[in-house]
Amino acid sequence: MNSLKKGWHALISALDSDHFSDPIEVVRAQPERIDPARCVSFAVLHLGCLGIIWVGVGAWAVWTAVALYFIRMFFVTGIYHRYFSHKTYSTSRFVQFLMALAGTTCVQRGPLWWAYVHRHHHRHSDEPPDMHSPVQHGFWWSHIGWITSNKNHPTDYTKIKDLAKYPELRLLNRYDLLGSVLLLSLLAIWGAVLRSYGVDTSPMQMIVWGYFVSTTFLFHGTACINSMAHVFGSRRYDTKDDSRNSFLLALITLGEGWHNNHHRYMSATRQGFYWWEIDITYYLLKAISWTGLIWDLKGVPKSAYENQEVPADEADLEDPEAAVIAAAAAAKSGASVGA
Ligand SMILES: [Zn+2]
Ligand SMILES: [Zn+2]
Repeated sequence: MNSLKKGWHALISALDSDHFSDPIEVVRAQPERIDPARCVSFAVLHLGCLGIIWVGVGAWAVWTAVALYFIRMFFVTGIYHRYFSHKTYSTSRFVQFLMALAGTTCVQRGPLWWAYVHRHHHRHSDEPPDMHSPVQHGFWWSHIGWITSNKNHPTDYTKIKDLAKYPELRLLNRYDLLGSVLLLSLLAIWGAVLRSYGVDTSPMQMIVWGYFVSTTFLFHGTACINSMAHVFGSRRYDTKDDSRNSFLLALITLGEGWHNNHHRYMSATRQGFYWWEIDITYYLLKAISWTGLIWDLKGVPKSAYENQEVPADEADLEDPEAAVIAAAAAAKSGASVGA
């Protein structure tokens, strides 16, 4: 394929996440390798941070970046992970759509692709097919390399049928770029409004800090769970993978650092199993459940406290599809505590 044609396909792929130059089966059969065209968006994101040289530092812009880091980390953990990937709670179809839209502002691709990749991770944790296992593929590949490989970009809709049946979710998954357009527009408006009130900022300063700096930190914070949370920390449960619990990672990811707990009990909304295992995402989801917008949060199974062996009758929970179904059944029987 000549370079002009390659460039054209790369451009269309940036706008339409379901577009590939070759049939999906061919893309999936490709070897794991860094694809230069897929690196462009990462380069733009990171180089965009250098914009602070021109736009400078402003208190409002810095605090906006910090706030957007934590708000969107909550979107990643509370929406993409604990809802779309594991269905650890329920909501209405309309709120589900709004949550998917909010998730696209995290610039981590669409909700269905995220859920598909994540369920695949649980199904093959730290085995050769696991796209981002530091044990199998090395630390840097698990942190950032894997997402630059074309092979890992198609969404396998057949593996997430419970989500793919909603056309509005498929649309958002395909055109996830909408999240970036929305966030950039809101930041430009926010900068202009503050400036009109005499605040020393500008639309461009807001965009550099609120989009580029905040999103770069958000990416690396999230990626730490793929890389570090399978290497550093303690193991409470003897899971088949190398997942770890880490207090520090739990702080920067709003609770996702209790990754060994999560790999053992992926259906629980709560990932910090004890009061000292800080899990901000769970506290926020619990508070939102009081409004009635979400419901049926799944508690920590009693067996998590009684013994730390894997009971035979729960072995199927290691399969994420089975976990989604089992979690729905468990909610009806009330076989959990702490939610
Ligand atoms: Zn993991
Ligand atoms: Zn998970």
